[in-house]
Amino acid sequence: MNDCQNQRYDCVVLGAGLAGLYAAYLLREAFYSVGLVEARARVGGRVCTWRDGLEGQHAELGPEFIDSNHTRVLGLAKHFDLYVSTRPNFWGVSPTPPAARAAQTAWRRLWDEVYEHTHQIPEPHCPWQVPDALKPLDRLSMRDWAEQRGLWQAGEPLFRRYARNLEATEPEHLSFLSIVAQEAFYGERVDAGVYRLRDGTETLPKALAHGFTAQGGELLLNTPVEAIQQTAQGVRVHCRREGNPYTIEARYAIVALPFPVLTQLEWTPALSPQRRDALSLAGKGAVIRTLIQFRTRFWRTHAPRARANQPDITAIWEETDLQNGEMGILSFWTGGEPARRWGSLSEQARIEQCLQTLEVMYPECRAQVLTARSYDWQADPFALHAYIHHPPGYLTEALPLLRQPEGRVYFAGDYLSMFVGYMEGALESSAAAAHGVLQGLTREGVS
Ligand SMILES: Cc1cc2nc3c(=O)[nH]c(=O)nc-3n(C[C@H](O)[C@H](O)[C@H](O)COP(=O)(O)OP(=O)(O)OC[C@H]3O[C@@H](n4cnc5c(N)ncnc54)[C@H](O)[C@@H]3O)c2cc1C
Repeated sequence: MNDCQNQRYDCVVLGAGLAGLYAAYLLREAFYSVGLVEARARVGGRVCTWRDGLEGQHAELGPEFIDSNHTRVLGLAKHFDLYVSTRPNFWGVSPTPPAARAAQTAWRRLWDEVYEHTHQIPEPHCPWQVPDALKPLDRLSMRDWAEQRGLWQAGEPLFRRYARNLEATEPEHLSFLSIVAQEAFYGERVDAGVYRLRDGTETLPKALAHGFTAQGGELLLNTPVEAIQQTAQGVRVHCRREGNPYTIEARYAIVALPFPVLTQLEWTPALSPQRRDALSLAGKGAVIRTLIQFRTRFWRTHAPRARANQPDITAIWEETDLQNGEMGILSFWTGGEPARRWGSLSEQARIEQCLQTLEVMYPECRAQVLTARSYDWQADPFALHAYIHHPPGYLTEALPLLRQPEGRVYFAGDYLSMFVGYMEGALESSAAAAHGVLQGLTREGVS
């Protein structure tokens, strides 16, 4: 490549999502020179708060909820003085018919068996080290498991709703062992989704970026990475800046890009075949979030006229319960196969689907619409998916390998953590990558 500029750092971090921001922040805090390279014009990656045109309100197109054991997210929020709120006034519904009794029984059987196995995972922090007797459970999908026990027919609506709502996929693509492992890892006393960042999730990546640059870290926005070249001495990253080729050299690299992006880059030497195979096992969870702002919060004052039946939307909830103003914003969640199907619809057609569903419950709602957005994460070229899920094989065959560095290149991102598809997972993996790089830099001393 005929590059026109060069820049040299102790470490270059690729991707300014939470994983990249945190790794860059930690390394800069240790006084190493760090360049953080980001393709978009903003930091945060899949953290994406919508504010424009909402008259002082905001809503999330990406992550929103924080579990009580997400200690790094909560700790950083405290460190940066961000307001963490609970959800005392939360409003939400599922626009699907109530589950039949047989479905509820099948659902309980699933969790009874999951909890029977959690005690057999000796080391919940590295659950891929399971006894051989448990390994076949990583070959079973949630659907396989239910079929083997004769529970699929009765339980399908609840199994599907769970997979679409939480894992952004279908029961056919979820490893049964991974469900067990996640429960073992989480333990019993975790409150799921109890917290939010009151002023928008984007306040966290913005605070990290500010902390990084205030310490002298260099943030390069609008700089998509195209190729990564590794030598015995260091790493050379080929990017594009204002349309021109731009090269960055560093002693180490942390690649904090979404996993589907990795195989689109040019690697020299090539990524190991084992890593490519492992990446091909990772599950690309699909989500479309549709947000609609209404003139009033009629759902707070009027009971729904009827129950809707739209399995493509697994949940509707209010985004603005902690925000001022008469207006209110509802969020519609479409995950798994319906999200892939909806990807071929225009944004307007997706908003229309959501309105038609809401109209069954609140026939007058259409007249109250102020503005709306619908975001398809699969179509975002710098994400290519919403978040990871574990298909059969990923946990035991891919995850331990993907967590390893390749030479001077370390990897970070939510796909490498047992906080599967969570901001906490992005932070956990990047702390581990930063630790590895710090050890290398310390060992080698000043260059
Ligand atoms: C709809 C949705 C809902 C979610 N809900 C929750 C939730 O409630 N709670 C929760 O904890 N988590 C949730 N998540 C998951 C959470 O968003 C992710 O786990 C986390 O943000 C991932 O951070 P990351 O840094 O690993 O990846 P990313 O945020 O994707 O960061 C990667 C960065 O790399 C950049 N990049 C990509 N390609 C290139 C390139 N070629 N060159 C340079 N830069 C590049 C991207 O622009 C991006 O900034 C949700 C995600 C989605 C999409």
